[in-house]
Amino acid sequence: MNRVIAPGAVLGVLGSGQLGRMFAIAARRMGYRVHTFSPEQATPTGQIADKEVVAAYEDLDAVAAFAKDVDVITFEFENVPAVASECAAQFVPVAGGEVLHTTQNRLREKTFLRFKGIPTAPFEAIRSLAELRAALARIGAPAVLKTAGFGYDGKGQAVIKHVDDALAAWQAIGEVEAVLEGFIDFEGEVSVVAARGLNGDFAHFGVVENIHRNHILDLSIPDAQLPASLLQEAEDIARTLLEALDVIGVLCVEFFVTRDGRLLVNELAPRPHNSGHFTFDACVSSQFEQQVRAACGLPLGGTDLLRPAAMVNLLGDVWEQGEPNWAAACAEPAVKLHLYGKAEPRPGRKMGHLTAFGADRDEAAKKALAAREALLKR
Ligand code: AMP
Repeated sequence: MNRVIAPGAVLGVLGSGQLGRMFAIAARRMGYRVHTFSPEQATPTGQIADKEVVAAYEDLDAVAAFAKDVDVITFEFENVPAVASECAAQFVPVAGGEVLHTTQNRLREKTFLRFKGIPTAPFEAIRSLAELRAALARIGAPAVLKTAGFGYDGKGQAVIKHVDDALAAWQAIGEVEAVLEGFIDFEGEVSVVAARGLNGDFAHFGVVENIHRNHILDLSIPDAQLPASLLQEAEDIARTLLEALDVIGVLCVEFFVTRDGRLLVNELAPRPHNSGHFTFDACVSSQFEQQVRAACGLPLGGTDLLRPAAMVNLLGDVWEQGEPNWAAACAEPAVKLHLYGKAEPRPGRKMGHLTAFGADRDEAAKKALAAREALLKR
């Protein structure tokens, strides 16, 4: 028998950023209550949640009290320390706890992918400068050195252009356990956001084309224009991974598409992902609703794209010349504005996004970019 947590129950979220915020919006729309736990106050999730608990993840008394107050716990971010989820799991079901162990560490993740026979960029584990030099001799330059733990949006990475740059790169990432990857001169980047329910049912939002700027996602356009065989392969890999990792919830697989037409998995994110934000406005069910449904043991929702759409991120940089011109961006009727309620617009910080609709994917992308440009109009 399936365990259904019915609307009215309290969903606990570890973490308090924009992913938790959009999860909370989806949960409250379905009649659930939401509590959030993180070390920060007045957070993007806390502004939407019924209750915001502010404590360190290592404060296990506070974690236990939080867990006793909710019916199920989910994560908004994979880097929540494992001690917190292990403590919470003593009191209440934690949706998707297992997958964190693999995906919190790049080396574990890549080793797992290799073990499953899933193609990645060539990589080696690095624990010392000597190992880095030896690996560079095998993999060759250019290459990318990435810290094994706690990396996202290009943080904890150093590109090595020449084999002589090993020392500088090793110092740049802080001389910690790392992964050396061959640099992929890719044709493009795509992702698949997929969900798996408590019964093992599977749903995905298709293959999304992603364009990054300074290692941070900039533009996502669903319905990537790839040969049918590659689309199928991307979806098959996503399904294989959600099943192998026994995911109950949402997981995003990020891929490189090589110039000779192969898919390489770059990274896994065991949660809703920035490249799936368009689903909030553009699909029958959003990635956040899927996370609610999976955590609560409900069947997954439909994933159809209702209209061609595209999403652009709004980073803190948009505020550089002062308050953005919201009216100008909202003047386009096919654009939806999302802001995450963050007080301080630092450069590179994800403050919000715009989703735009169009007659086709190119028009949607053009409208999204034009609306962002309009924010800068004086
Ligand atoms: P990551 O944090 O690993 O997702 O990397 C962020 C971005 O950096 C990716 O989306 C790519 O645009 C770029 N990048 C990361 N690894 C590589 C690689 N091995 N070769 C080329 N570009 C990379």
